[in-house]
Amino acid sequence: MDKKKIFLSLSDQSGFEQKYVQNAIDLNQITSGGSNVDSFEKKLENYLENTVNVAALNSGTSAIHLALVLLGIKAGDEVICQSFTFSASANPILYQGAIPVFVDSELETWNICPRNLEIAIVDRISKGKKPKAIIAVHLYGTPYKIDEIHSIADRYEIPIIEDSAEALGSKYKGKKCGTFGTYGIFSFNGNKMITTSSGGALITNSKHSKEKIIFYATQSKDKAVHYQHSEIGYNYRMSNICAGIGLGQMKILDKNVALRRENHLFYRDIFQNIDSISLFEILSNDFFPNYWLSTVLIEANVENNISKENLRNAFESENIECRPLWKPLHLQPVFEKYPFYGAKVAEELFEKGLCLPSGSNLTIDDKYRIEKVIKTFFNKK
Ligand SMILES: *Cc1c(COP(=O)(O)O)cnc(C)c1O
Repeated sequence: MDKKKIFLSLSDQSGFEQKYVQNAIDLNQITSGGSNVDSFEKKLENYLENTVNVAALNSGTSAIHLALVLLGIKAGDEVICQSFTFSASANPILYQGAIPVFVDSELETWNICPRNLEIAIVDRISKGKKPKAIIAVHLYGTPYKIDEIHSIADRYEIPIIEDSAEALGSKYKGKKCGTFGTYGIFSFNGNKMITTSSGGALITNSKHSKEKIIFYATQSKDKAVHYQHSEIGYNYRMSNICAGIGLGQMKILDKNVALRRENHLFYRDIFQNIDSISLFEILSNDFFPNYWLSTVLIEANVENNISKENLRNAFESENIECRPLWKPLHLQPVFEKYPFYGAKVAEELFEKGLCLPSGSNLTIDDKYRIEKVIKTFFNKK
């Protein structure tokens, strides 16, 4: 039996991507930066209600790195980071030679826990190491508790880097994610809300810091005819070809958000009557997730052979990709020696949780196959 693979998360195409790429080729702008990059930034600024400045870069990871550079994070400085996230949230802390301090999640949004965040800040200050920045993540597209987290950060005067890699199109109290922090970041990797094949953006309130970001992203060239450098530079600017793909993708961003939110409702219908499984649900209507990924928690039942791993295997045997939730960073071999504040919330989410196929390209036939696997798995029990 040759079944088409259903991927965890793929984006659609609008059909206009090629036109913009062709335009760059026709103009011989096969470069980093260029007119597609400028237009893509404008489109994103528009999308974010023209309240912020957008610098397009070659990945979400480089956006986080440059945010740390702009905040002046140096070797030995401490930076707080949500533990329950993808490694790319924390890796740039290490690129700067700084020290990550991990904080547990709360159960309502699965993101950084306000109580443990404050405990961590107070304890680090008592050790003479006031954290220089906080990296908070809107995991799976669900906003973290923005009011609580930002009021703590403000009280201790610590800037927030808002990792919105998964949250393009998500909102909190009607305002788009990515626009709340001192810096916000997006990812346009192939599995995110929209793709530029690889790409990212760094969001800032000030025009001046956008110029600074582009300066660092293009090798920190001083104003001189010859190549003159008084600061360390990076090659992080978005390619004009990639930006062409991004311009095509912007046409379907709203549709992608709607489709991923529909996927969530599709799963909610299926899981309504299954006791051992709970679909992630929002805390209140202040939260508007894009549902980048639909996620569930599964209570293991040894007698019935019910577990997240068994369900994942049932999907896999039908050529359907599912993944466990992110493994908390404080439990990862590369990060386990760094401080962690919290208990076992993130760890238990990892033990019970599964990400289900959530792409904006899922067809009716794909959904039929997915539903069949779930119904068969739970009916047999
Ligand atoms: C994807 C992702 C990143 C990194 O983005 P890239 O564009 O892949 O470098 C960072 N943080 C989170 C939470 C992500 O999911």
